[in-house]
Amino acid sequence: MLGFLKKLFVDPNEKKLEKLEPLVDEINSWEDEIVELTDEELRAKTDEFKSRLEAGESLEDLLPEAFAVVREAAKRTVGMRHYDVQLIGGIVLFQGKIAEMKTGEGKTLAATLPAYLHGLTGKGVHIVTVNDYLAERDQEWMGQIYEFLGLEVGVILQDMDYEERREAYQADITYGTNNQFGFDYLRGNMATNEDQLVQRELNYAILDEVDSILIDEARTPLIISGPSQQSPKLYYKFAKIAPRLEEGEDKDYEVDEKAKSISLNESGIDKVEKMLGIDNLYDNQYLDHLHHLNQALKAHALMKRDQDYLVKNGEVHIVDQFTGRLMSGRRFSDGLHQAIEAKEGVEIQRETQTLASITFQNFFRMYNKLAGMTGTAETEESEFDEIYDLDVVVVPTNEPVIREDLPDVIYKTEEAKFNAVVKDIKERYKKGQPTLVGTVSIENSEKLSRKLKQAHVPHEVLNAKHHEREAEIIKRAGQKGAVTIATNMAGRGTDIVLGEGVTDLGGLHVIGTERHESRRIDNQLRGRSGRQGDPGSSRFYVSLEDDLMRLFGSDKISGVMNTLGLDDDQPIEHKLITKSLANAQQKVEDRNFEIRKNILEYDDVLNGQRKVIYEQRRKVLTGEDFEEILFGMADQWLDEIVEIYADEELAPSDWDLAGLINQLESLSLKVDLTEEDLAGLRTEEIKEQLVDQFKDSYQAKREELTAEKMNKLVKLVMLKVIDQKWMDHLKAMDELRQGIGLRAYGQRDPLVEYKFESFEMFKQMNSWIREDIIKYIFKIEVVKEDSEEEKPQHLNYEQRPMMTAYDTAKQPQQGQQAQAGGEKQEVKRQPIVKEEEPGRNDPCPCGSGKKYKKCCIDK
Ligand code: ADP
Repeated sequence: MLGFLKKLFVDPNEKKLEKLEPLVDEINSWEDEIVELTDEELRAKTDEFKSRLEAGESLEDLLPEAFAVVREAAKRTVGMRHYDVQLIGGIVLFQGKIAEMKTGEGKTLAATLPAYLHGLTGKGVHIVTVNDYLAERDQEWMGQIYEFLGLEVGVILQDMDYEERREAYQADITYGTNNQFGFDYLRGNMATNEDQLVQRELNYAILDEVDSILIDEARTPLIISGPSQQSPKLYYKFAKIAPRLEEGEDKDYEVDEKAKSISLNESGIDKVEKMLGIDNLYDNQYLDHLHHLNQALKAHALMKRDQDYLVKNGEVHIVDQFTGRLMSGRRFSDGLHQAIEAKEGVEIQRETQTLASITFQNFFRMYNKLAGMTGTAETEESEFDEIYDLDVVVVPTNEPVIREDLPDVIYKTEEAKFNAVVKDIKERYKKGQPTLVGTVSIENSEKLSRKLKQAHVPHEVLNAKHHEREAEIIKRAGQKGAVTIATNMAGRGTDIVLGEGVTDLGGLHVIGTERHESRRIDNQLRGRSGRQGDPGSSRFYVSLEDDLMRLFGSDKISGVMNTLGLDDDQPIEHKLITKSLANAQQKVEDRNFEIRKNILEYDDVLNGQRKVIYEQRRKVLTGEDFEEILFGMADQWLDEIVEIYADEELAPSDWDLAGLINQLESLSLKVDLTEEDLAGLRTEEIKEQLVDQFKDSYQAKREELTAEKMNKLVKLVMLKVIDQKWMDHLKAMDELRQGIGLRAYGQRDPLVEYKFESFEMFKQMNSWIREDIIKYIFKIEVVKEDSEEEKPQHLNYEQRPMMTAYDTAKQPQQGQQAQAGGEKQEVKRQPIVKEEEPGRNDPCPCGSGKKYKKCCIDK
């Protein structure tokens, strides 16, 4: 009976692992034979595998032997033999799933197994790391194994140019960060020249720290943007106004901390109108004022310096709320960043316009096969499954984990909590036991550091301000008597090895000074201790004043507290509190999941459209059927035009054939037809006539220009128009999305509304694209290459390609949300577009709205 019950309730993960066992045995069974091979014979296996693949064997067929080969090569090159659990990890990754492997289990090495196997196909394998430092390290380190076996390995780094990137992408296995892969994708879809295409088809990716990439980063899309023409004056103006308004229910404005939003009250509006000397802030003409006011208030009341952002070298940097690191180069969107810059009195970086964007979610879903690894995935299992269709398998540890996770202690006040933390650290420090302390913010790190100084405890502080030294400090964190304070997951990717004698002292002790927004982040902190069977312990200290408790804990707690009548420094242990803590965490986790899902649902709409546009664009760029696309466009466009002037549904006497011909001539189409020629024809026949006219005009133009020039020109016109319209569309979609929230009051589902309207907008955009392309193609005058002056302004592509900035991939993608946190080097912000001399007919850079030649050209 018991046995039966046990069978019934068998852990589903156990089941998954059981299925893999025979495969692990099979890999192991190859070992005796493989060990005997000479280096040359081992290397020759790669060619043998490749031929067997060609002969029809599948990667699955090759797996056991190939894994055994990689294991042997690793032994001979980097001196490590994959543990059996790493084989399991490798199989899970090969199967396109997520392998949860604890810190220190050797994920880097495990990934070499599926990477090699897939590398045999030559279609490309991307190993995605969280920062450049790890990408480079892993490529050099693990690269020895692949190269020994005759596969090529490359790495994509921030400061590489097109040539270097293309080469790295051509390799069988390529290391790089999620940002680099994502931005190269976007850049490839902004290229004006085939030389700028570096990435191949997205084939197979292994995401290291997959939870960080797909979950923590999911809420911030990758955006490439260029400067727009807005002036910074309004930001400064409103930065002065914001502090003059009072916060409160019956005051000028209210703050909703949870929703991170601000709402203005009557009196606030009155005051602002007076300050600005205007009648009605809600008048259409002041829409941008309202927006600025809102952002200024957010910057003033919601965004905290040293917690949400940092000011360094006169620049405002976002602090990642999960890792505490600086997100160099990233900017808060929608003018909030500028509002903060104005609040802090630093120079406002130019406002930007989105040129291309994609969420990580949608980017990584484009790979033919996706796999991931992390120490903490299980708590987010359902999200991985639901959104990415990725199954999570918890791989057992090589040695049993003997770390002791002590129960939380809860204090009434934050002050008392920190005092207790200091006491705990001091006691362990005296013993010589190393301690790693995690904090949720830089502010708390510094607070704790001050207290430790007072208590004469030497320590290191690891936060966004010093992240250059991160890896180095983290390495020493396991030494005797070391005390390391780290904002949450700083130093991720470097494992903490215990110093001599530390094992006898109980190993590394981890202290959490606050519960995080998700259990996963708590687990990451805990997991820094107890690697590879090391001893260790962990404990979280919590106070009722912590954000999590304050915002999401129930009010019942304060009741209990009062009933208990405890002193501040007495820890409370009460079931109700522990439970409400867990509830609070659950609430936040659920909420964040909902937000991410929501983002995805909205982004899916745009994603579909992006695919259509990018595919079309790619065909034009590579010259594949671009004429066909053009004629297709002409066809549709003529359909629309004829429909307007010669609607089937109307009597021919009501048609306006003269208008039709006029319209076509105004677009410089050669029309050899008169009204009389068309009279008496049916709508369909008129259209056919016009299609012929279009083709004739095209042909004539082509002969006039020569085929080569015409091709070049048509390509450029098409790319330029598509890009311009797409950019406008992105902006409009963004506005639509923000606006749609306001309409949600009725019974309507905002998402349905959004889908409906964006479909209409997309249709409209396509129609504009067609019209503009046709219009421009026939308007082109042949001018001598060197007399730019006479070229029509909108065709100045040659001297001023729209995407100048991306002609060199070396430019950090700036002014935008490029360059996510966690990169090793901090990149200085630079304007995204090269400041080159504008064309004479271009808008003057001074912002006057006049042409450059009529304005500042000689000044
Ligand atoms: P993770 O990313 O899983 O935390 P790493 O890949 O950084 O772990 O590896 C942790 C450490 O374990 C590294 O120093 C690595 O050299 C070592 N290691 C990994 N696999 C093995 C192995 N099979 N044999 C010996 N050492 C290993």
